[in-house]
Amino acid sequence: MTLRIFNVLGREKQDFTPLVEGRVGMYVCGPTVYDHAHLGHAKNYVSFDVVVRYLRYSGYDVLYIQNITDVGHMLESGEDRILKKAQQMQAKPMQVVERYTKSYFDDMDALGVLRPDISPRASGHVPEQIKMIETLLEKENAYVVNGSVYFDVTSDPDYGKLSNRRVEEQEEDTRGTTRDEKKHPADFALWKKAEDEHILRWDSPWGEGFPGWHIECSAMSKKYLGTTFDIHGGGIDNLYPHNENEIAQSECANDAAFANYWMLVGSLTVDSIKMSKSLGNFVTIKDALERYRPEVIRTFIVTAHYSNPVDYSEDALSAAKNGWERLYNAVRLTRQRMNYAPEGDNGNGFLERLAAVRTEFKEVMDDDFGAPRALAALQDLTRDVNTLLNDNSEVGLSVLAEIDKAYREMGGDVLGIIPAADGGDTRSAEREKALIEMLINMRAQARVNKNYAESDRIRAELAQAGVILEDRADGTIWKIE
Ligand SMILES: [Zn+2]
Repeated sequence: MTLRIFNVLGREKQDFTPLVEGRVGMYVCGPTVYDHAHLGHAKNYVSFDVVVRYLRYSGYDVLYIQNITDVGHMLESGEDRILKKAQQMQAKPMQVVERYTKSYFDDMDALGVLRPDISPRASGHVPEQIKMIETLLEKENAYVVNGSVYFDVTSDPDYGKLSNRRVEEQEEDTRGTTRDEKKHPADFALWKKAEDEHILRWDSPWGEGFPGWHIECSAMSKKYLGTTFDIHGGGIDNLYPHNENEIAQSECANDAAFANYWMLVGSLTVDSIKMSKSLGNFVTIKDALERYRPEVIRTFIVTAHYSNPVDYSEDALSAAKNGWERLYNAVRLTRQRMNYAPEGDNGNGFLERLAAVRTEFKEVMDDDFGAPRALAALQDLTRDVNTLLNDNSEVGLSVLAEIDKAYREMGGDVLGIIPAADGGDTRSAEREKALIEMLINMRAQARVNKNYAESDRIRAELAQAGVILEDRADGTIWKIE
């Protein structure tokens, strides 16, 4: 079965055919770095992480670009998000940018989100943006007013094709624009003249200013992926105007199609309302990680299809935690059994079950990255693994290794919810060792006191728990049966 993707451009599920066989160029709109990221961001970037991981699992060579917006992102009020934060912090704008870029990557690393191949910054690509604006002016898709440059939406007959809006119906994009400068209310700023108090400013053919928000994605995707590339991703709330404007700028400037497939991720909601900084209904990723393992947060996110919203609540997180623990306990049990399993392939009838779950996993993931169904397939597998391990104490090492591998690949490499090694186990192994040694010391003390009933009892109870003691001239050693 071939991979099929629901293409927002055209609103239908389509076979995925990359421009170059075996390769995928993918661009995802990145964060504006003016504050700590919250779970809404986690939903977006974990979703695309699963997409990238699955494409690689399927054998594609993926070039994944995700930008960092560090200039030009305007609030509805016309204020620049980063400058506003810099004023609050009494810091330089680039200090704000550095602090929150680091914070963002710390959070993503903690969540097991693989780093993009390139994370270009808007402020590092101003010449590329100016060049594209010059092209748009030459082609009469844009006009200059008082040192600012606006895109003329009426010059692009395709404008509105992603969001399915006609130009006449466009809402006004007020961000960073001055209404009376624009010919049409939906026209948007490509370049803004910098007022005296604006610190982030660059020279341009139109005087000192700074780029509008949308142009960065057009300029940077072109630089790293070319004029036409395979997949463009983003959050559903950026469909209009941001993504629509990216298409307009790029296709008018380049005379070529922009992205062939558009994938948009549904929001993370709280009581059905989108989690956002401005509404104050947010939980930062850092706070969430204090309470839940990253794998649990990822499990919660993949319980909903990437294109759908997922509603955050304590109940939903604790359900995800229970589900994840069931999976992971089976993995741990398998790994523990591998330490003392007999060589050979006793229980090899189970390999068929593993082959079936791999087929099912591929089928549901090939169907527009159906991670919730892939998770369900792993949960079904877990029920059967538990039955196998309970019923057959002699399952051979090679069969256990295949079970572990299946979890590692599907649950670990693709969904990112199964750790490759039992990180938590180092601590529990140390604890176990300390407890056993304490009991051995208690037994030695009982013997010194000639309380042989007590020393025998400790020895017997340890043996029952699988810990065998052996008295030697230089002391007692122990081993796990
Ligand atoms: Zn973008």
